[in-house]
Amino acid sequence: MTQMHSDGDHIGAPMASLGPMVPVVSPRAADTDPRQDILGLAREDLRMALLAIGVPDRQANMRAKQIWQWVYHRGVTDFEAMSNVAKDVRARLTEHFRISRPEIVDAQYSSDGTRKYLLRFGDGTEAEAVYIPDEDRGTLCISSQVGCTLNCRFCHTGTMKLVRNLTPGEIVAQMMVARDDLGEWPASTDNRRVTNIVMMGMGEPLYNFDHVKKALQIVMDKEGIQLSRRRITLSTAGVVPMMLRCGQEIGVNLAVSLHAVNNETRDEIVPLNRKYRLEQLMEACAAYPGTHNARRITFEYVMLKGVNDSDADARDLVRLLTRYKLPAKVNLIPFNPWPGSPYECSDWDRIERFSDLVFKAGISAPIRTPRGRDIMAACGQLKSTSEKKRKSETLREQAALAQI
Ligand code: SF4
Repeated sequence: MTQMHSDGDHIGAPMASLGPMVPVVSPRAADTDPRQDILGLAREDLRMALLAIGVPDRQANMRAKQIWQWVYHRGVTDFEAMSNVAKDVRARLTEHFRISRPEIVDAQYSSDGTRKYLLRFGDGTEAEAVYIPDEDRGTLCISSQVGCTLNCRFCHTGTMKLVRNLTPGEIVAQMMVARDDLGEWPASTDNRRVTNIVMMGMGEPLYNFDHVKKALQIVMDKEGIQLSRRRITLSTAGVVPMMLRCGQEIGVNLAVSLHAVNNETRDEIVPLNRKYRLEQLMEACAAYPGTHNARRITFEYVMLKGVNDSDADARDLVRLLTRYKLPAKVNLIPFNPWPGSPYECSDWDRIERFSDLVFKAGISAPIRTPRGRDIMAACGQLKSTSEKKRKSETLREQAALAQI
């Protein structure tokens, strides 16, 4: 996860602080609305839920399909608007279910078209999603956790404590909020504004595997949001044991937060490297299902002045990718500073030289234009600004403590 990714401040922390392989989900405080939220329910789960409220078996499949279409193709949040659903069924749906949206605490629009949303969920925790428009696409960067355990040192998110994993519904809801804001309803293939998804927001998606998988299956479902897996990228800091499952069970594109070409430097920048070494990570990349020259793995590489940006680093990067025969593309990310960050961005001519060296070896290494810098939405800058201004920090602390 690292388009928006960045790093934390616990670099000297012992290995134990890196967290378990799949962190335990901390309990959510109860929502005040007791009705079940149908966002994030798989179609089969919705069918079962309909049976449980007395929808006849012979109708349940059709009703689930109708409801999904209203929800994911039309953005409807009120069952009463579902005109092809029988009136008595609508009443029962309203009694038992809801179709929720997180509260938009803050929406910032950058001069370059980037939009950043600070969202508050039912228990008061908050996470961010960022929409980045380009000429031929609109990419939504989605968070998978509130906070992050990994403390990558260049990452602002990494300075937050992990509060909890987001639920499938909360992950899908980030897309729904963006589509509401962008006026994408009724959705059709012609008017899509969110054409791509990157799981690169707050959190390590492979530490919340089950929920991310469930959410992405809804996003890919032909009756759901209908986004092709080729348009979805999951970015990991290198949770090696989960990478194969990600390829086999979700099948989306893979991005890896690499950022260094030897263990010594990577140990510092991405502390998870102390647990899963660079060689293991490269082997897991080589084994990732479905990669070939037309579907390459993206390696994110943040340019840090005097840390990982030398000519020797560029040559070692080429050697590393070649040694493991990886169909690779490297994204060079000029470091986006944030208050208190321990690094500086490499000089521009250094970044260009680095890019040239990698390009000349036959590996694509574009320099990613920083987006949304003016609203702190760029790579590595995500951190709920609410932290400073809201008492939800207290809630986070409590939740983090409850988790230990
Ligand atoms: S894994 Fe966590 S700390 Fe590392 S870049 Fe991603 S959000 Fe930041």
